[in-house]
Amino acid sequence: MKILKFGGKSLANQKGIQAVVDIITDNVKRGQLITVVLSARGKSTDELEEILEKASRNESYKEQLEAFKAYQKEIHQQLNIQEELTVLDKLFEGVSLLGDYSKRIKDQVLSQGEIISAKLITQLLRDIGINANFTDSRELIITDAQFGEAQPLDKLSKENVLDHFRKYNGDTVNVVTGFIASNANNETTTLGRNGSNYTASLLANYLDAEELQNFTHVNGIYTADPELVPDAKKIEKLSYSEANELAYFGTNILHAKTIIPLLEKNIPLRILNTFDHQSEGTLITSKASKKGIKSLSVLENVSLINLEGRGLLGKVGVDARIFKALAHKNINVSIISQGSSERGIGLVVGADRAKEAKLVLQQEFETDFSKRDVSTITIEKNVSVISIVGQDLSTFHKPYNALIRNQVIPLLFNNTVTGKNVSLVVKKDQLRKALNVIHGEIFGITKKINLAIFGHGLVGGTLIDQILKSAKDIEKRKKIDLNIFSIANSRKALLAIHGVDNSWKSDIEKKGVPYSVEDVIQFAEKHHLENLIAIDNTASADFTENYVNLVTNGFDLVSSNKVANTLSFEFYNELREKLKENQKQYLYETNVGAGLPLIDTIKLLHLSGENITRIKGVFSGSLSYLFNTFSIEDRSFSEVLQEAIDKGFTEPDPREDLCGNDVGRKLLILARELDLKNEFEDINIHNLIPEHLRDGDANQFLGKLKELDSIYEKIKADQEPNHVLRYIGDLHGDLSQEKGLLDVKLVSVPESSSLGQVKGSDSIFEIYTESYGDQPIVIQGAGAGAAVTARGVFGDILRLTDKGF
Ligand code: ASP
Ligand code: MG
Repeated sequence: MKILKFGGKSLANQKGIQAVVDIITDNVKRGQLITVVLSARGKSTDELEEILEKASRNESYKEQLEAFKAYQKEIHQQLNIQEELTVLDKLFEGVSLLGDYSKRIKDQVLSQGEIISAKLITQLLRDIGINANFTDSRELIITDAQFGEAQPLDKLSKENVLDHFRKYNGDTVNVVTGFIASNANNETTTLGRNGSNYTASLLANYLDAEELQNFTHVNGIYTADPELVPDAKKIEKLSYSEANELAYFGTNILHAKTIIPLLEKNIPLRILNTFDHQSEGTLITSKASKKGIKSLSVLENVSLINLEGRGLLGKVGVDARIFKALAHKNINVSIISQGSSERGIGLVVGADRAKEAKLVLQQEFETDFSKRDVSTITIEKNVSVISIVGQDLSTFHKPYNALIRNQVIPLLFNNTVTGKNVSLVVKKDQLRKALNVIHGEIFGITKKINLAIFGHGLVGGTLIDQILKSAKDIEKRKKIDLNIFSIANSRKALLAIHGVDNSWKSDIEKKGVPYSVEDVIQFAEKHHLENLIAIDNTASADFTENYVNLVTNGFDLVSSNKVANTLSFEFYNELREKLKENQKQYLYETNVGAGLPLIDTIKLLHLSGENITRIKGVFSGSLSYLFNTFSIEDRSFSEVLQEAIDKGFTEPDPREDLCGNDVGRKLLILARELDLKNEFEDINIHNLIPEHLRDGDANQFLGKLKELDSIYEKIKADQEPNHVLRYIGDLHGDLSQEKGLLDVKLVSVPESSSLGQVKGSDSIFEIYTESYGDQPIVIQGAGAGAAVTARGVFGDILRLTDKGF
């Protein structure tokens, strides 16, 4: 014998009912013995409850009642449900006259929904020749007299059930009303909302069924509600005790008490989908899965009540008073949490009872108020509870940190004593984001990193192409999905929730919209995008003004733009304060030496307490090329410079390189990494442009390059033998002081020295430290160019994801 239970949603309309009839027919054809347990159709129980309320308040209810009747008749015109409808007429009439009703009356009203539903299915089955038998569970399940939440009396009920099934046996399909029962006085009772599941599991127990199939509108139990978490996965199999945990925290398919009768007889429970016959559903048995099961469940309509006051400190019995006062009013507390300082107590109650709960507590603690032992009782209305089932505290820091990084600060959290369940209270408008972040973290499912890229010139454009090209690979290897949801230039932004693709260049022209950075932030917020990184590939000073705003709105920063690190020390500090406050990172490896791992190395050395005493090197690729070539070739300075310009090694106006400011900026960035408080003005920069050529536009300058020749010819000639020219940055002095000495200058060095050996347009950095002594750590390689810079930015993005997104 299998018990098939169909819920309200399965019976809500013609389509569902047809599916139910098909499933039953299919079983009968296969010779499978079955018993069917039914809920009321659709929202019938809610409707009846509402009409009852209206009648008791003397409001007009007739229209709603007529609609209810029409709905019950619509599937089968000839169905005889006159008796039930008349009962309802009478009951409502009476309640309306009295202006009140008892729980006993309410159970009589609600029970009609199940009776009608079972009569309907019975009739439909008979119409197609199936030997169906309408079975009123009130004649079988006997309960105590606790109307609305009655407890079955097992012995009596079992006898009745066995008697009935002895009589109606063989190929008879008993179609049983769920939810309803009767007490010893033959009065109708109900088993509590969603009680049909309970009826089904009681029958399974009494009849020693081989399986209980619970037909719902979903394919089974998921790791989280798929409507809230698109990545949620179906759980194939779990144990009763695991299911019990799930059921307890709001999964409304199951209730703890439903599971007990099954557990007793070791009867498997299968959660199936009425509308998807193919799905195997979720099977619940007594066997626990090896790894333990994890899942997220949600309580949505709850409020958080906070009691605060110094008087709560160490007082015995406060909790007991809270519970007693609330229990007295039948207000259920689902979570309670107390700070270790015991100055505050938070508790979660149903949203509909929050006001009342506050009032009750205010009364209870009235005298404590006047003694100032309790200072405030507040309600936080729109909150939700997320329970991570199967989560113990040993690894709880992972989802917790992920939340904080995504700016979801739980208002309260607690764990069950068995330590297998952690619940968090979050603001309701953060529920979706929180669920997805936690889900991604604990299931190790691919984590989505959402990127907003500002600037798509040479570096930015190359970066986008690099990311799109390696995205698949990275997803496979690192389980990270890099999703570029925004690309922006100074005019337009291309916004795409699911990410841009290879046609981004034309898309930004076609579909791009004028924007402000705030719009990009809002877009991310609106679409609940998590793990946000803003990438600045502009060279713009203006754009850096958005950094703080981005950080406070949950973005980490990656930047190839040097400006933010070379503005005033005050801004430098402020930005870092904000980063710290918001637990955000800012990576800018490419600010110095492009993709070379320079900044990271310096950071590490500095952090590990290694005393860096000097940093010296060729910081500029274009000037490296210029002097490397000029030093060894017998050509004029202007000729070599022209060549560098032609090869695109310099800025369009080469004076931007020659003035030394760029090298100065890089030097300043390194100095600040060492906690030196230098300002740009502190740098001694040897400007390579003679004064009379510093003004005027680029073309004028380009026409006068020859005027440089005599100067540099002389410098070259004045060198000692076997020496070469290098334009270097040099950070030195006593670096334990507030400020260091920063020089940017042209020097002559032995050809055989490490600076002297640099070739082509390479950069070189010598890092001198206390423990390495005279032997510097040397980092050398291509320190400029779009491809290596983009690679470096990409590296920073991956570094961020490694830091535990
Ligand atoms: N019809 C009842 C309710 O809505 C019982 C059930 O559906 O299980 O709560
Ligand atoms: Mg670098």
